[in-house]
Amino acid sequence: MSNLPQVYRNVDDLRSALLPLRQEGKTIALVPTMGALHAGHLSLVKKAKEQADIVIVSIFVNPKQFAPGEDFESYPRTEASDLQKLADYDVMGVFIPNAREMYPNGFATSIQIEGPALGLETDHRPHMFNGVATVVAKLLLAVLPDVAVFGEKDYQQLRVIKQLAKDLHLPTRIIGAPTVREVDGLAMSSRNEYLDKDQRKTAVTISQALNIARDALHNGESWIEVQKKALATLKLSGFTTDYFELRHAKHLGHPETAKGARILVAAKVGDTRLIDNIEV
Ligand code: AMP
Repeated sequence: MSNLPQVYRNVDDLRSALLPLRQEGKTIALVPTMGALHAGHLSLVKKAKEQADIVIVSIFVNPKQFAPGEDFESYPRTEASDLQKLADYDVMGVFIPNAREMYPNGFATSIQIEGPALGLETDHRPHMFNGVATVVAKLLLAVLPDVAVFGEKDYQQLRVIKQLAKDLHLPTRIIGAPTVREVDGLAMSSRNEYLDKDQRKTAVTISQALNIARDALHNGESWIEVQKKALATLKLSGFTTDYFELRHAKHLGHPETAKGARILVAAKVGDTRLIDNIEV
């Protein structure tokens, strides 16, 4: 049996542990997560290990990226099994701060980000990317990694974080990793745990709709037609769709051509909101 990774609960302890390693010239990769780890997260850990000598995983359910009434309270928290999963990977440490460590009394700073953060998710969760940008900036400054790995599953978030790192001259290379899917195509997500049996069956429609839309664009159909059909399919299967949009892969504005663009979707089945995306 492998050993559980070392847990750090505060920034000072983590920095003290990293300092001698950094002085030895070791490179560091960070994988930020909210825990409830699945194979998607673990693929990021693997990628991080390919990029650097040392891997740090962070687990923090960030209250600043949830609005009142969202699933902050019910979000799965599974620290013991997360650590068990990470034991099979060569992870130097897991940073698990509590909210008091990240946002002590009197915390007064927030990062406001526009550009790729505008539209899509922001139209439905306006608080989210400022919360994400604030916590990711804090994590990157706490660890000062050479590389940080984020999933393409949260494609808008990946673009937002690349923008953040560029704008703030953060000394970290941000890299994306492909979406890991269940056998039927559903993108893995900690929120999939909320789905009951019927909803789980319905959920596959999202990735199917993305694949069908991409193929239709390849066959020369117009985006308007493709989007109309996808929205109808999602509705028929029981989804309430927040958006199903074709966007430029970098700035996430409207693309001039479909080639190389990205289709992004967010839709709700019951109370569970799922997001996914695909490259055209
Ligand atoms: P989360 O714990 O949901 O905040 O996700 C932490 C990181 O894992 C983010 O960079 C996500 O994009 C990434 N991630 C989540 N699900 C997947 C997946 N199915 N495949 C690849 N990366 C993922």
